[in-house]
Amino acid sequence: MTTPADTAALAAALDAADPLAAHTAAFVRDPSVVSYLDGNSLGRPLTALEQRFARFIGHDWGTRLIRGWDEGWMRRPYDLGDRLGALVGAAAGQAFIGDSTTVLLYKLVRAAVDAQSASGRTEIVIEDDSFPTDRFIVEGVAAERGLEIRWIEVDRAAGATLEQVRAIVGERTALVLLSHVAYRSGHVADVAGITAAARDAGALVLWDLCHSAGVIPTALDASGVDLAVGCTYKYLNGGPGSPAFGYVRRDLQTALAQPIQGWMGAADVFAMAPRYEPAPDLRRFASGTPPVLATVALEAMVELLEQVGVDAVREKSVALTDFAEASLEAHVLPLGARLASPPAGPTRGSHLTVTHPAFREVTERLWARGVIPDFRGPDGIRVGLSPLSTTFAEVETGVAAIGEELRAALA
Ligand SMILES: *Cc1c(COP(=O)(O)O)cnc(C)c1O
Repeated sequence: MTTPADTAALAAALDAADPLAAHTAAFVRDPSVVSYLDGNSLGRPLTALEQRFARFIGHDWGTRLIRGWDEGWMRRPYDLGDRLGALVGAAAGQAFIGDSTTVLLYKLVRAAVDAQSASGRTEIVIEDDSFPTDRFIVEGVAAERGLEIRWIEVDRAAGATLEQVRAIVGERTALVLLSHVAYRSGHVADVAGITAAARDAGALVLWDLCHSAGVIPTALDASGVDLAVGCTYKYLNGGPGSPAFGYVRRDLQTALAQPIQGWMGAADVFAMAPRYEPAPDLRRFASGTPPVLATVALEAMVELLEQVGVDAVREKSVALTDFAEASLEAHVLPLGARLASPPAGPTRGSHLTVTHPAFREVTERLWARGVIPDFRGPDGIRVGLSPLSTTFAEVETGVAAIGEELRAALA
């Protein structure tokens, strides 16, 4: 059993030995934020962004003006997509910056089930505890297309397993939509195994990478993944509402038709053609004008990740998560709270959920004192650990504060 004194000393030792420690200073750190434990929901901004935005406004936008589209903005969703793709194991020409995660999910889910309808496949498989938007999109598409939803009942402290997927997929499965990392528990799914099982059954597979992109290595190509969508404002620090990225396996691209047919997805965008003719490649998944301004911060973070490497980021993520567990054991679990995340190891992502009935109130008290985890109903505090911007000392301070406020709430 680790004690509070042990964990404080351990945090100092881990920070001193952390090969990525210097990067924490590359992010905006206001002294009023004592401990930021929500980088899994909204990453911190890089300090370099002030300069980048100034340059974008003064030069790219202010000086180049409309010429910017020819000089790179039209290519930007695909150029930046290739670089992001490389971070998740995708060869060039398969990843792109698109709309919000929600809209991209809609487009790709619809495209996938429509492509499968000719073979009489009428079911969509999804976890019953996946992120609300994923479930809501599937409900909408199922209603629109007359399909059936097959729910995988997941353990709230874990996630969908290979055995569960094997048991539910079959000749009627059109699509399997799962999260790589469960937003609640932090469970890491077996992407390669589940993808193979689903594809053996003839289903297409769409992975939601929102809680893994930029922090957990992913081998999309090597795992035979068909489709993926990922968020860029979480571990990719793209800023509030930065657009999502999509992945469509190369040999699937022309077989799919997405439902939001706009001019940016047309074969010849400036032909102003009388009828919609989709582009013969990845561009067909675009709809309208790309949100260029909203990718400035994302590009800066992609650059940093290219330099550091996702494997090194994952190594620190594991160390931070293991340390957070030790700190919770010292400060919070003895007060009756429970860990609702997988045990240490490859099935644990970069955040932990700890539960207690008093945590809604505790979270309010924590935010008031600059300790910022997030609360997920009914009773969970998520401790999110964004490796490049988080110190071990910050985790210790934050977790100790959770203990103090829980003690106060129980008094
Ligand atoms: C964060 C997150 C989303 C967010 O979708 P938006 O369209 O960006 O609001 C969707 N799915 C999962 C799994 C997420 O973690």
